[in-house]
Amino acid sequence: MLSIPAACWLCQMPLALAHHGCCSLCLRNLPRLPACCPRCGLPAATSRLECGRCLLHPPAWQHMVAVSDWQPPVRELVKRLKFFRANALSSMLARLLLLRWLAARREHGLCRPTLLLTVPLQKKRAWQRGYHQMESVTRSLAHWLGCRYLPAGIRPLRQTAVQHSLTARARRRNLRGAFRVVTGVRDEHIALIDDVVTTGSTAGEMSRILLAAGAASVQIWCLCRTL
Ligand SMILES: [Zn+2]
Ligand SMILES: [Zn+2]
Repeated sequence: MLSIPAACWLCQMPLALAHHGCCSLCLRNLPRLPACCPRCGLPAATSRLECGRCLLHPPAWQHMVAVSDWQPPVRELVKRLKFFRANALSSMLARLLLLRWLAARREHGLCRPTLLLTVPLQKKRAWQRGYHQMESVTRSLAHWLGCRYLPAGIRPLRQTAVQHSLTARARRRNLRGAFRVVTGVRDEHIALIDDVVTTGSTAGEMSRILLAAGAASVQIWCLCRTL
């Protein structure tokens, strides 16, 4: 039987290494993020130091790593990951995230995570969709990094109100007590993996409860960060 060569998810050209999912040209041509603060991930004068916002009001986590702003082509791939079950796509996105983290590690000396966690889907949405789109991305990352991944390490305790109509303070209040850490995280260096970080309030609340439960550090790794 003839095997069909795998194609690049972006330009559809055949790939020499099928499991990469993205050719080297498309990888090089991905839109670059502007200089962003290494902590909050938002545009800043330099990417070497924490921004003034973080010096005044530091987020609970220590580092944020993002592949892209919320824009094509990564945005379209994230949308496809959400609505279609596609394992080849999830391993390609995992590779983009790993490459981005390796670059951030070289620049900022980030520690290697010992445990990966994902933001739990609200029960209702998980039931409607039947699966968690970031689980297969995170499984690939855990495999490559040789660290643990606990898909159910954080549980949602209650349904939270829809976030986007709320102010920043109301968002934080809305999320208080919404999650519980159900695994031992003492002294673990945690990377929390998410598809899209918008306001950072969910990531902030989860980091807060992880650090309160004894985690040594928390990094946020996301495919898209809305700037
Ligand atoms: Zn390509
Ligand atoms: Zn910052």
